[in-house]
Amino acid sequence: MNETCQTLLTELPVGVVLIDRGGRIVLSNPAALDLIGLSGDPAGVPLFGGPALSTELRELEGAFWSAMADESAPLDEDREFAQSTPAGTRELRARLRRLTIEGQPHGLLLIDDNERVKRTERALAAALGEAQDQAVRDPLTGLFNRRHVEWVLPAEMKRAERYGTPLSLLVLDLDHFKAVNDTYGHPMGDRVLVELARLLNRILRVGDTSARMGGEEFCVVLPHSDTAAAQRAAERLQRVIRALRFQEEPELRVRASIGVATARPAGPRTDFAGEAARLLAAADKALYAAKNGGRDRTEAAPE
Ligand code: GH3
Ligand code: MG
Ligand code: MG
Repeated sequence: MNETCQTLLTELPVGVVLIDRGGRIVLSNPAALDLIGLSGDPAGVPLFGGPALSTELRELEGAFWSAMADESAPLDEDREFAQSTPAGTRELRARLRRLTIEGQPHGLLLIDDNERVKRTERALAAALGEAQDQAVRDPLTGLFNRRHVEWVLPAEMKRAERYGTPLSLLVLDLDHFKAVNDTYGHPMGDRVLVELARLLNRILRVGDTSARMGGEEFCVVLPHSDTAAAQRAAERLQRVIRALRFQEEPELRVRASIGVATARPAGPRTDFAGEAARLLAAADKALYAAKNGGRDRTEAAPE
């Protein structure tokens, strides 16, 4: 074996034991010696005959001999077991596979420290979850972002269709927000956005989804709400926004305009992404009407 392979085997945290068709150990690495309690130089020693071997590893013996006797027999054995060592009990995972080397069948036993594998899997799952979460969150407010709405809205519309209930969408845009930044500074503008997000989270019902669509524009998905209910929710939201006060800027007032659009179940539909885009466009149009109608008001799209 060349030096690179030797180093690799020595450093590998996974136990590797190669056995010939006679069941004798051809090669092993330090991790294998450590994990399954082999000692000395085990080359040439029958693996399954060793006294230190756990019951679970011994159970692999039958499958090993069958696979060595019949070239076409699969060898795909996995076992999880506890191994006692002087340092305590360790959870191990063993995999036995067939390997052909120079035309001869061999057995390859791989042994992992199961705790380490599970730790790694948990860390990976957590990292993946966090990455997925970040992809659909707005970093400033912690609310969902537009991307999430584009994913959740068609799904909610499909559900509403199935249950035969209406679904409404609010699109909210802060009024003259540029003036808030100009008068009180951009960091204070950020504070307002964060406070608005908090307020949305506080007053919405479970099942409603609020999101920051970008800039000073937000949206709320209201399942089970018809236009009248959505309009009431929007107006309540506007009242709470009007009442917002900031200790550091007592003069600062916040106002918002809101556009409402409602989807009613209308028989079998399949293009929910298209329906969602149409609903968003209708709410945007209503918002535009609210702005043109003098701001700090709610307009609903005709159903
Ligand atoms: P309108 O009533 O017509 O909506 O007027 P407006 O001033 O709110 O709208 P406009 O589109 O002219 O300006 C939006 C402002 O929102 C300008 C921009 O600087 C500000 N803004 C967008 N994103 C952020 C942000 O993340 N933080 C802060 N502080 N301001 C933001
Ligand atoms: Mg605005
Ligand atoms: Mg805007």
